[in-house]
Amino acid sequence: MSIIIAVDGHSSCGKSTLAKGLAKQLHYLYGDSGAMYRAVTLYFLNNMVNYHDLDAVTQALEKIKIRFKRIEGQNTTFLNDENVEREIRTMRVSEHVSPVSTIPVVRRAMVKQQQIMGQKRGIVMDGRDIGTVVFPDAELKIYLTADPDVRTSRRHLELAAKGIDADWNDIKHNLLERDRIDSTRFDSPLRQAEDAVVIDNTLLSEEEQLELALRFALERGAKM
Ligand code: C5P
Repeated sequence: MSIIIAVDGHSSCGKSTLAKGLAKQLHYLYGDSGAMYRAVTLYFLNNMVNYHDLDAVTQALEKIKIRFKRIEGQNTTFLNDENVEREIRTMRVSEHVSPVSTIPVVRRAMVKQQQIMGQKRGIVMDGRDIGTVVFPDAELKIYLTADPDVRTSRRHLELAAKGIDADWNDIKHNLLERDRIDSTRFDSPLRQAEDAVVIDNTLLSEEEQLELALRFALERGAKM
């Protein structure tokens, strides 16, 4: 049986690492919902769309096409046929993505696409509202959390590996600010689904967290 696995939680607590690991082990699709909000934000910034103007946002959304392709084994984000995988991870985008993600019309457009990706099940998707709004019927919902300093250091390393230079304190400030906006927004705030299992990975290695989550997935009906 193919199931849906939702991975939600705070910024930079390893959701995508876990989701990609699970997808690989189970031969499932990986859905990066954060990349979609980042791509929309990049479009708004590059095209000077005032995201406080609802008409401008609605019109711009019609011109946005987001696709994922695998390139050299990596999930890669395309915005209107342009590879934006690197650009959507920059601090410029990180600083605007949470305000953009509060806009209901943006969320509705993204959720619709995400639900289409999960129509056949067999998907692991990470984000903030996957277990609560996108796939409330997911067989497995994981809510990840970790210490903020550990999260900042992981993000710093991840950006450095991509050749993106960013200050540690700026990263920490951005993570906490995104958490604040994401948890307090009116539409689909980040919160733990009632039926989610919580994993605090502050002291867990990537392998340990994957092993734990895989065990939950097999218990919920996934097959290796
Ligand atoms: O997952 P990632 O950190 O790349 O997500 C970037 C931002 O996109 C989050 O801080 C949040 O504001 C927004 N987001 C969201 N809902 C999702 C995924 C991401 O609002 N399902």
